Amino acid sequence: APPRKGKPKWLRVKLPTGKKYTELRGLVDKYNLHTICTSGSCPNMGECWGEGTATFMILGNVCTRSCGFCGVKTGRPETVDWEEPEKVARSIKIMSIKHAVITSVDRDDLKDMGSIIWAETVKSIRRMNPTTTLETLIPDFQGVERNIDRIVEVSPEVVSHNMETVRRLTREVRIQAKYDRSLAVLKYLKDQGINRTKSGIMLGLGEKEEEVIETLHDLRKADVDVVTIGQYLQPSKKHLPVKQFVTPDQFKKYEEIGLDLGFRHVESGALVRSSYKAHKHIL
Ligand code: SF4
Ligand code: SF4
Repeated sequence: APPRKGKPKWLRVKLPTGKKYTELRGLVDKYNLHTICTSGSCPNMGECWGEGTATFMILGNVCTRSCGFCGVKTGRPETVDWEEPEKVARSIKIMSIKHAVITSVDRDDLKDMGSIIWAETVKSIRRMNPTTTLETLIPDFQGVERNIDRIVEVSPEVVSHNMETVRRLTREVRIQAKYDRSLAVLKYLKDQGINRTKSGIMLGLGEKEEEVIETLHDLRKADVDVVTIGQYLQPSKKHLPVKQFVTPDQFKKYEEIGLDLGFRHVESGALVRSSYKAHKHIL
């Protein structure tokens, strides 16, 4: 799509290119594979696919929640597809993905909140792709430990859960979620022995600098290892408006603050998405 009027120049991106990208694009079209990278027309596809990283969404395309920033459809969710774990594992094999990020819609309608399919997906991927490393970007599972434990048991290399925004804006930005519950999920994962935990926030929703810094502090207190910070862009007119475009200098400042606080990795920049450079975060 052409750049929207008023968008600063650092948000204008080139179309993805590269030999690896072209090759994967062909496979995705031929086998009708589903990645978030393509369905969300992510600006980083050339770079991520070139490095063998892609993001896959499980548990359908309809979410039980309705976060104000999110382009995923809300409504009555689809029936669970028990073959989905196999299908995702096969896609990863066809694409020769070295590092896969798995994420899902929230399934508050299911008793296990989708955690069984989550665990089965990780197991299928491991069986079919023994050298592929994994990041699971999980929902909060309403903080129910029994569900989170299913993720811990299959030990993905990285487990992430996004805060998305600062404390004050959480109610407006992700109505069914809670700031402290998300922090508690991250802390619990670490306490259960997950090696790398990770979280992400978006800027441009009206947060103040000191609030961003507070969130970074809170994440460190929860022992989170990796943080991603990117610019929020409105998926449609029905979504929350962009309140500000954060400058590259400001992103740089947050990166430095984050590194000073002791995060192992900080990805901070306008085009950063939570799975951007994800392959680096296992190290
Ligand atoms: Fe895919 Fe995430 Fe990379 Fe975008 S940032 S191309 S969604 S892996
Ligand atoms: Fe989107 Fe996740 Fe919120 Fe569902 S829970 S609306 S998928 S951000």
